Parts: sequence; structure tokens; C-alpha cells
Amino acid sequence: MAADLDCIFCKIVAGEIPCFKLFEDAETLAFMDINPAHDGHCLVIPKAHSPNVFEIAPEGFAAAARTATRVAKAVNAAVQPDGINLMQANGEGAGQSVGHFHLHIIPRRNDDGLLFNWDPKPGDRTRIAEIAERIRGLL
Ligand code: AMP
Ligand code: ZN
Repeated sequence: MAADLDCIFCKIVAGEIPCFKLFEDAETLAFMDINPAHDGHCLVIPKAHSPNVFEIAPEGFAAAARTATRVAKAVNAAVQPDGINLMQANGEGAGQSVGHFHLHIIPRRNDDGLLFNWDPKPGDRTRIAEIAERIRGLL
């Protein structure tokens, strides 16, 4: 399995660094985030090292998603939040601090003030269409 010797999450997978383990299967591991945004904040990772969404194999993402659905239900029952965000960061500008693909499961409270939400305002449809065209051309 792909591993990066300098990666903290690979070290957790290898058992070299402890974690508050929630669940594991052959391909994935779920454990508590040690800097939680709220009670119940946890992470799901593929065991194989991939830095981000650009490099992960779709199967790795699918395995993490499968585990995340299972763990999110348990988190929801355990801490009974007002909602849960699944979040995944790629690159510094998106707030990624650990370069091993991971899904955050983040319980939310009404009015908790967490900043990754935004005020939805109608966009410029011409601009939306232009950007959609650009993305479609690269798919
Ligand atoms: P991100 O900033 O999206 O890359 O998320 C990385 C997350 O990993 C942060 O929320 C950190 O609190 C968390 N984290 C870093 N080191 C550890 C660790 N040893 N055990 C559990 N969570 C960690
Ligand atoms: Zn890693």
C-alpha cells in the first residue's frame, strides 16, 4: 500500500502515532480529529497515501465515502448535532494542512459561526455558463 514516510496520517495508519480510532476496514480508517471544530469532529482517510482529490484513485475516494456514510450516521446519533458537514480540502488556499486525502465529518450547531459557510447570493448566469463551458472542455 502506498505510504509517505513523512506523512502524519500514514504514520497513524502504520500504528506509529496513536489515534482515537473509530473504525477501520481494509482500505480506510476513521479517527477523531484532535483539534475538533465541535464534539464529534472526526476524519475518514483511505489507508493508501494520496495527497489530494487530484491524485487519489476514484476507488480510494469511493472507499472513503463508503466509510464516511457509516461513521456520519454514528456521529449523528452520538452527539445529536443540528447538522453535519462533510468537508474535504485540497491545497493551502482551501485550508488543507495535512497532505493525505481526508474527509472531515463535522457536526454543526445552529449559529455556531464556523466560517466555511457562505451567504448564497444569485450568481451572474453568463459567468456561470462560461465557467461551466471551460470545465466541461476539460472533463
Ligand atoms: P485539513 O486542515 O483539512 O488538512 O485537516 C487536517 C486535520 O487533521 C485538522 O483538522 C487537524 O486537526 C487534524 N489532525 C492533524 N494531526 C492529527 C492527528 N495526529 N490526529 C488527529 N487529527 C489530526
Ligand atoms: Zn499519508
